Amino acid sequence: MKGRILAIVNQKGGVGKSTTAVNLAACLAELGERVLLVDMDPQANATSGVGVEREKLSGSVYQCLIGSAAAEDVILENVALPRLDVLPATIDLAGAEIELVSVFSREYRLKETLAPVADRYRFILIDSPPSLGLLTVNALAVADSALIPIQCEYYALEGVTQLLRTVDMVRRHLNPGLEVAGVLLTMYDARTRLAEEVSRSVRDVFGEKVFATVIPRNVRLSEAPSFGKPIILYDGQSRGAEAYRQAARELMQRMVAEVDRGKGGRPGGKQGCTGTSCLGEGIAGTPGGREGNGTRTAGDRG
Ligand code: ATP
Ligand code: MG
Repeated sequence: MKGRILAIVNQKGGVGKSTTAVNLAACLAELGERVLLVDMDPQANATSGVGVEREKLSGSVYQCLIGSAAAEDVILENVALPRLDVLPATIDLAGAEIELVSVFSREYRLKETLAPVADRYRFILIDSPPSLGLLTVNALAVADSALIPIQCEYYALEGVTQLLRTVDMVRRHLNPGLEVAGVLLTMYDARTRLAEEVSRSVRDVFGEKVFATVIPRNVRLSEAPSFGKPIILYDGQSRGAEAYRQAARELMQRMVAEVDRGKGGRPGGKQGCTGTSCLGEGIAGTPGGREGNGTRTAGDRG
């Protein structure tokens, strides 16, 4: 099976992008797949999340993007666990957004970076920053699909219209094969009615694109990064570890299903729900009503 490049995107901050990138990558490696975790966020949370220290780096994705290093020379192999390689980020990456503005084919710098090494991996997972700027566009321009983590909190769907518009734009102008692979609900707190309501509105909008696996709010998941460990190494028995293992298995199953359907088949979900077209009614129709605020419910008003 051909390798898969997934961009983990949501311009909303703190929704679980880096947690998902690190832990899905680790769980896929644990399942026996060769994985490359690419950090496209200057905050470098995915890099530190797998225990890579800045002092040990021979370079970062920044050097690759500006053309002064090859991915091969910068990638760290078997980080945290076997089969998990990392193309790390540093704060330098913050400058790339501006420095690349005048560079030829600036939207394809990550694609060009990954081209020589992509064949080695079954999965390439790209963590992206909380913006829709050039770094995120680079991630979407090389990806087969976008994976959107959505936090089960107030305003969960805020900005999703804009995100899907960006995905559409990238598909039209830069990467015709780009799909929305799925939506992963994160930080789900089963004790709250809100989490259930958010989950329902997200499923109304995205249909079967939403992973059946839901990532619970789990304190072990929030502790693991400060030890530089994916959750399966920090506390392999925790609910967070089990959830990401399950999500990794579901991702594999979805890939297999997609291949069975033949290339171009959109996995599950509402037909054509790969961009803004599937949203209009969904968001407006969710309780609480106003566009971009699909999670506000009658109960939140008082
Ligand atoms: P940013 O937009 O800043 O890059 P992000 O979308 O990458 O943020 P994370 O850094 O993954 O989000 O998560 C935000 C915070 O929530 C972190 O402190 C993380 O440890 C914590 N967190 C993420 N997922 C969970 C979870 N399921 N349960 C508990 N805490 C979580
Ligand atoms: Mg992050």
